Amino acid sequence: MAPTATKTANRSNHPNETKGKIITCKAAVAYGPGEPLVVEEIIVHPPRKMEVRIKILYTSICHTDLSGWQGESEPQRAFPRIFGHEASGIVESVGEGVSDMKERDYVVVIFNGECGECVYCTCEKTNMCEKFGVNPMKKEMCDGTSRFSTKDGKAIFHFMNTSTFTEYTVVDSACVVKINPQYTSSLKNLTLLSCGVSTVMCISNKSDSENLVEQDLWSLRKKIIASRMSRKQEK
Ligand SMILES: [Zn+2]
Ligand SMILES: [Zn+2]
Repeated sequence: MAPTATKTANRSNHPNETKGKIITCKAAVAYGPGEPLVVEEIIVHPPRKMEVRIKILYTSICHTDLSGWQGESEPQRAFPRIFGHEASGIVESVGEGVSDMKERDYVVVIFNGECGECVYCTCEKTNMCEKFGVNPMKKEMCDGTSRFSTKDGKAIFHFMNTSTFTEYTVVDSACVVKINPQYTSSLKNLTLLSCGVSTVMCISNKSDSENLVEQDLWSLRKKIIASRMSRKQEK
């Protein structure tokens, strides 16, 4: 989406202007299961402790967005909501305590974050973090509040630790990966690392699987996706 925020941050134009302030920008908001998304101006609040506010440069769509939007599972229904969990972008500002990334860093968001401290993050056989693991039911930040609201002040729910169908989002720093600047020309394709490629790699790398056929299948899919990405980048 083209940035139309009343206060915008970008790499070349005073990114600190918006730090600590509310940003008004456009987002695609879902107001009910299966209802057309409404592209409208929303409020994005500053990042709190250990959170990161990101200017989304590219986002893609995945079937999980579709099932969430359709509200296939009643417990998953939470509206209004901003869907999207595959995206790349640039850090606009960071909250207190974030030390591994800073303003202007290029990043990819990940819905399956890692706190790095829980029993699962420290286990060698899984990385399904108990705090930031896949949880379609989770609709707010860790403190139980939202960083999005409508212009008349109604809270908008988050989705899959990410919410990327917006010009700006706020995510926990555990759900962000910094990108080496040499790959920034590939940011458009790197959105696939948020879900498609990482999901396949996660499954194919599981160490306790005895199902070699399954492993081969996922390994093949991983290679296909990676080769498609590299071919696109060569064009
Ligand atoms: Zn996905
Ligand atoms: Zn963890």
